[in-house]
Amino acid sequence: MSLGLDTPVSLGGPTLEQRRRLVTSIPGPRSEQLLARKAAAVAAGVGHTVPIEAVAAGGGVVVDADGNSLIDLGSGIAVTTLGNAHPKVVAAIAAQAAQFTHTCFMISPYEGYVAVAEALNRLTPGDFEKRSALFNSGAEAVENAVKIARKFTGRQAVVAFDHAYHGRTNLTMGLTAKSMPYKSGFGPFAAEIYRAPMSYPYRDGLTGAEAASRAISLMEKQIGADNLAAVIIEPIQGEGGFIVPADGFLPAIVDWCRANGVVFVADEVQSGFGRTGVMFASELFGIVPDLVATAKGIAGGMPLAGVTGRAEIMDAPHTGGLGGTYGGNPVACAAALAAIEAFETEGLLERALEIGTLLRSRLTELQASDPRIGDVRGHGAMMAMEFADPVTQAPDAALTAAVARAAIAEGVIVLTCGTYGNVIRFLPPLTISDELLHEGLDIVAAALAAN
Ligand SMILES: *Cc1c(COP(=O)(O)O)cnc(C)c1O
Repeated sequence: MSLGLDTPVSLGGPTLEQRRRLVTSIPGPRSEQLLARKAAAVAAGVGHTVPIEAVAAGGGVVVDADGNSLIDLGSGIAVTTLGNAHPKVVAAIAAQAAQFTHTCFMISPYEGYVAVAEALNRLTPGDFEKRSALFNSGAEAVENAVKIARKFTGRQAVVAFDHAYHGRTNLTMGLTAKSMPYKSGFGPFAAEIYRAPMSYPYRDGLTGAEAASRAISLMEKQIGADNLAAVIIEPIQGEGGFIVPADGFLPAIVDWCRANGVVFVADEVQSGFGRTGVMFASELFGIVPDLVATAKGIAGGMPLAGVTGRAEIMDAPHTGGLGGTYGGNPVACAAALAAIEAFETEGLLERALEIGTLLRSRLTELQASDPRIGDVRGHGAMMAMEFADPVTQAPDAALTAAVARAAIAEGVIVLTCGTYGNVIRFLPPLTISDELLHEGLDIVAAALAAN
């Protein structure tokens, strides 16, 4: 499936012309007005990357209130993987909303929640018996995975890794590695969280086995397996810089966890749901997590999250110990079921692989002509380039920010990431056309050449 410009946009959104079009500068006057209202009404801590007022989105574009059409290479942070406002998702939302919008699953259960749990149990790695529980956000899923692992093991300590991002609630801030902007001034953080060194091939030069033994040594010496409830890791790190661990790193950590009764939790909130060309990035490394946290791409843009894993672990908490008023909202569940159906019938995993091939070849070509691109990495539609000094490898956050800013000004939505702020990440919706993808990359390349 190769989407051309004349492909009808049945894969997302209102019928939007699939082209980049700038009719004002960014932001235009209408967007400026909203941003002024935002500054006066919304807390300053809630920032924004692209200074527009979004009014529609679908296929591979986001349209603003001034009539500008921007190429979307971010999917609202890996959420609208199957395109914004996918028609099947929209129809499912409308039908469910007309039926009922809420009962609270803990008060009066409904089928959609159970069906999403069944789908997660089927789709996540591992052919053992599984259970799922649904929540509202990635952070909430991660928190619950920790609760479940603690209850199951009777232990308290949790290990997260350098460059990790697990959310913004108190427990997940503690798990997240980067201080600014996520943690600075927001402590104290939860106790019994330990940080282990990650495998970061571009910067540590270690094999997977070497990086794993470094992390395992820290866990054994500083914590002791007997005290450790869970190791939590993103199989491909998201906010921390799209870091892909060296081969062998994740399997060695999983083996150590299994040998020591430690629950291995994969945070697949960003890397999951088809992003990387397989349903879950764990599959790329041949690992089977005990628990998987999911959110972002799960429900076509609706807020939904899940924890899925081994039945004996998931069933450890007592009845009433897990839940929340909104967790597994029926409208969000209907959207997730439609999204999962789209994934299974519309060739989207294949499309993610095609996009990955296109992105990788364009980015490595760019790297060959510009030594400031130190590394190109990722899988499928989760790809990134890291900017660094060609001689010293010092991270170049200023260049990264300048390139992203220039691309956005030219109507291409790109996101940055990385502990050092020196990574541009590409997370396009899978419904973007090759033409738009190429055009977006042309503009990023021009922005790089001009800086
Ligand atoms: C975004 C993200 C989270 C947090 O999800 P929210 O829905 O923003 O709470 C957790 N883990 C990873 C890997 C993420 O990318």
